[in-house]
Amino acid sequence: MTAPRKRLILCLHDVSPRDFPRIVEIDRFYESMGVGARYAMLLVPNLWRKWPLREHSEFVSWIRERAAAGVEMFLHGYYHYDTTPKNERPLRVRIAHAVAGEGEFAAIEEDEAERRLRDGKALLEDLLERPVDSFVAPAWQYSQGAKAALAKLGFKLAENRMSVWSPANGAVLTKSPVIAYASRSPARRASSLIWSRLSTITMKGCDVVRHALHPNDFNADSLKIEIERSLRDLMRDRQLSTYRRLLETPAQ
Ligand SMILES: [Zn+2]
Repeated sequence: MTAPRKRLILCLHDVSPRDFPRIVEIDRFYESMGVGARYAMLLVPNLWRKWPLREHSEFVSWIRERAAAGVEMFLHGYYHYDTTPKNERPLRVRIAHAVAGEGEFAAIEEDEAERRLRDGKALLEDLLERPVDSFVAPAWQYSQGAKAALAKLGFKLAENRMSVWSPANGAVLTKSPVIAYASRSPARRASSLIWSRLSTITMKGCDVVRHALHPNDFNADSLKIEIERSLRDLMRDRQLSTYRRLLETPAQ
């Protein structure tokens, strides 16, 4: 018997009407790479309180079509910025300033987390006409309250930079770092390029590799070229899989 092939899971963060043309461009890029609908979209219900999904029907129709084609749909925060006053944010969050105030769930209290999760889930389910039970916190940062609210509401999947777990039963589904890119400054872009090149080598032994894109990653040609290279490299050795599949067969 041959060993099962190692897996690759792709996802696109920060999906909102603000970046509609760019998101279509990345979707076509995935198509051109042979990915098709085998990736996850992380949807923000009302990005920065300026881009409410409900007011962008053309965008909603498009994501509904992609969901019907098989793209996995995750809730990704509600506003995608940290509404906790700066002086109340834990030190951990202030130190990790890399998130530039986008850590909406990093310092949130349980009640507020529960309200936003409930509202976000109900909104997406209404717009997409299908169940939504997966969540990724903006900047991958979760307060204890956020984790408790996810468990209480029975979300099936959540992830941070280092793992994917099921809040519903606490099971850890895979432990491996995510490959992601930072486009905000030349220094960050440079370190992203190095991390991406190294990771395709250092993560060869991992059963599951996650590869995350953000709309801004396609602003810089240098990143675009590396993203294409790394995907080709990963897809050569690995089978495209989904987050949902991790629930049936967690990584070893
Ligand atoms: Zn995000």
